[in-house]
Amino acid sequence: MIDLQRIAKELQEFIRIPSSSLHEKRFAQRVKRALATLGIRCREDNAGKKIGGDCGNLFARIPGDRGRPTLLLSAHLDTVETGKEVISPRIRNGVIRSSGETVLGADDKAAVAALLEALRVLRKGELPHPPLEIVFTVAEELGLQGAKQFDCRRLKAKAGFVFDAFGPVGGIITKAPAYDSIDATILGRAAHAGASPEEGASAIRMAGRAISRMRLGRVNKQTTANIGLISGGTARNVIPDRCSLKGEARSHSSASLRRQVQHMLECIHEAAAAGGGSIEVEVEREFEACRVTMNSLPVRLARRVCRKLSLPFETRTSGGGADTAIFAAAGIPCVTANVGYENPHSVRECISLDQVRLLAEFILALVLEKP
Ligand SMILES: [Zn+2]
Repeated sequence: MIDLQRIAKELQEFIRIPSSSLHEKRFAQRVKRALATLGIRCREDNAGKKIGGDCGNLFARIPGDRGRPTLLLSAHLDTVETGKEVISPRIRNGVIRSSGETVLGADDKAAVAALLEALRVLRKGELPHPPLEIVFTVAEELGLQGAKQFDCRRLKAKAGFVFDAFGPVGGIITKAPAYDSIDATILGRAAHAGASPEEGASAIRMAGRAISRMRLGRVNKQTTANIGLISGGTARNVIPDRCSLKGEARSHSSASLRRQVQHMLECIHEAAAAGGGSIEVEVEREFEACRVTMNSLPVRLARRVCRKLSLPFETRTSGGGADTAIFAAAGIPCVTANVGYENPHSVRECISLDQVRLLAEFILALVLEKP
């Protein structure tokens, strides 16, 4: 049986262990210990070395009935910057919150705790289950950097669940956009702003013109775009010769994404040409769009489990990214499942203990469900 006291205690302990992106080592060791207690050996890959972190992704394979399709179960070990060294969780009326000065880190530690609890019950009961592949990633919050380093060729899963979405347990994300990052630098010409402004070409002014002409925000039903960072200039009295922009575009449609990125680049190009400057740009596909059909194995399994546990089954489209995109790109039908937390990445982040228990029950039922 799922033991709520045990999960609540463990989750609070997890939350107290700092594990912001690239600093997951201590928490990873704790998770390794929990797995070892269950007789599950996990391996750490070299992702940490490659991305400048202190720890790699953890991967465990749990043998099971080979007549059944292998399941991938995944969550991430890192949290966004907490704002403080240590997070102090507190429980009131069955809800865990931080002190109000930091995030809570239930994103994604609640998923890690629930997954471990489900495995505990599975092992204790010696219940029959399919082969399982467990992946705990690092640096998810830094643009899926850990998962990008994970060697997906090791996976044999026929269905994947990444437990990493806000909202009540039972909901899953079946559709997420592709994501392009745009780094642009506009180069102008420096000159003294008072003595010889005619000799300068302001890169900041060109950037302003470019951005003012861009379609940004929700561009259409499929596509969003943003310029999120702008920096340039050296002093009040110097015409700036450099201005850099960092932006992004996301879309469920690859044609629309291509058009949007093209449009943003054209705006930058046009403004630089008009202002007598030049540009350097770099566009990178950070991850591909992913989508599963209502008839795919992970969706069918989730639907059946929800019915069994009387949970509200719901599918939705997401505008964000998750490790799901990486596993899906490797050919595994994969969904992002709700963990039960609310307001992630904010000091108002919280999760009810009831949701943590439901998630553990959901995972256990998934694993026990016959396809
Ligand atoms: Zn997350």
